[in-house]
Amino acid sequence: MLESLSSSLQNVFRSLRGYGKLNEKNVKDALREVRMALLEADVHFRVAKDFTKQVRDRCLGQDVLESVTPGQQIVKRVHEEMTELFGGAHTDFNLEDRPAGVMLLGLHGSGKTTTAGKLAHYWMSSGKSVVLAACDIRRPAAVEQLSTLAKQEGAACVAPREGDTVPDVAARARREASEQQADIVIYDTGGRFQIDEDLVHELEEIREAVQPADTVLVLDAAIGQESVEVARRFHEAVGLTGLILTKLDGDARGGAALSVHSMTGCPILMTGTGERPEDLEPFYPERMASRILGMGDVVSLVEKAQQNIDEDDARRMQEKLAKNTFDLQDFHDQMQQMKKMGPMENILKMLPGAGELPEQVKSQLGGAGDNMKRQEAIIRSMTPKERHKPSIINASRRRRIARGSGVRMSEVNELLKNFDRTRKMTRQMKKMRKRLPGIPNFP
Ligand code: GDP
Repeated sequence: MLESLSSSLQNVFRSLRGYGKLNEKNVKDALREVRMALLEADVHFRVAKDFTKQVRDRCLGQDVLESVTPGQQIVKRVHEEMTELFGGAHTDFNLEDRPAGVMLLGLHGSGKTTTAGKLAHYWMSSGKSVVLAACDIRRPAAVEQLSTLAKQEGAACVAPREGDTVPDVAARARREASEQQADIVIYDTGGRFQIDEDLVHELEEIREAVQPADTVLVLDAAIGQESVEVARRFHEAVGLTGLILTKLDGDARGGAALSVHSMTGCPILMTGTGERPEDLEPFYPERMASRILGMGDVVSLVEKAQQNIDEDDARRMQEKLAKNTFDLQDFHDQMQQMKKMGPMENILKMLPGAGELPEQVKSQLGGAGDNMKRQEAIIRSMTPKERHKPSIINASRRRRIARGSGVRMSEVNELLKNFDRTRKMTRQMKKMRKRLPGIPNFP
């Protein structure tokens, strides 16, 4: 996400660290480069200009110029200003009503329906009950897509019936949610290729029928500068309470979307970073600024781990490791849990300083995901007995496993060797702990 912006900004700051002290000229030169980096990432030109002006005003004070760590001081000022640019404090949905209504709107293909499913997943994983309302009645495919997502998530879905108007569906969904005492209703509304009177009228009708507490625009971050214009027009026409930016995973042009708060005044509530139900994150301006500036985002990483890793499972694994009864099946299950955290490259970006690692190390760590897939395939080609007792895997079994998983035999050998080494190490740690009780528990 926004990798090229992040790496050009980090380059500018790296060069500043070389100076013992800064003068006005160094600061101005560096900020000119910051502005170029923002423009290249497709940040709106007015936003880039105001941003660098504000940072310059903050940086030309004596405390920065005379500081012994001027580079860090500038990064701190940029971080503060960027946090403001993204909206300052985190804004949440208005979920006080029961059921709370969240109306999603946006252009065709912006990711509205996918986001409705992701939101259901997000809220249901924290124990809330959700009803999805398929208000895009002109597109049967959209209704079908939403009801499939609802089924996957175990959420209720209200679909249009013969003769229903759009407000009819919305009102019925709200009524059903009330009867079921559901916490939240998400209204997935119809899209258009562009915003027009017809669409605005339809959205107003829905709003009148169900009075949702939130009217949220789902905005495709990959469309560049146009996203700012789309947001502005929707905000003028219907009055938004917030934005969800989608597709921030792929495109370097996501910079446009980062201007969207300051150009419209609408808070960014969440960001979509992939196609899976779990690829939706709450948006924290300060954490986003930290990620872009290469300071990592350990808070989000820990939250992600808490959401995706089952504590009881983790404790069971820990006990197995301590008793040295951890087998290849457990290893396989652990990889499954790790996978829920998302691709390795994304995890890496949340670690402070990861941007400064040499390219070779980054690509090796990024490639760990592929390696994991191969290891899973190898373990899946083993019988339960082999997974439990890898010592029985002789040469002919290794050959069969390699054939079954489509890898070279040397990779099967490598996996078994590594697994054996880990077991020996745990055994040694256990012995050492017995002799020296001061050693903390492993792992
Ligand atoms: P709608 O017309 O607004 O309802 O859009 P859809 O929900 O059907 O999404 C359009 C396409 O965008 C689909 O292929 C989705 O899988 C994809 N999509 C949605 N959100 C994201 C995201 O955050 N990242 C990526 N990479 N793709 C997304």
